[in-house]
Amino acid sequence: MKCPYCNQEMENGFVQSARDIFWGGKKHKLFFNPSNDNEFIIADGWNGCVISAYCCRDCEKIIINL
Ligand SMILES: [Zn+2]
Repeated sequence: MKCPYCNQEMENGFVQSARDIFWGGKKHKLFFNPSNDNEFIIADGWNGCVISAYCCRDCEKIIINL
């Protein structure tokens, strides 16, 4: 995949966490779970949460495949 910012080839890899990863429009401070219909889980699992992603180190950007 080409980086949409610099057009160089991006590295294929994974975003990984010991806990669920979710997207939301506001920053949570206490409960780190989706709290409304506009927030959603990107990766979950009992044995680590992993999702495929591309990284451009030059632009400091990561693109996650949902
Ligand atoms: Zn780039």
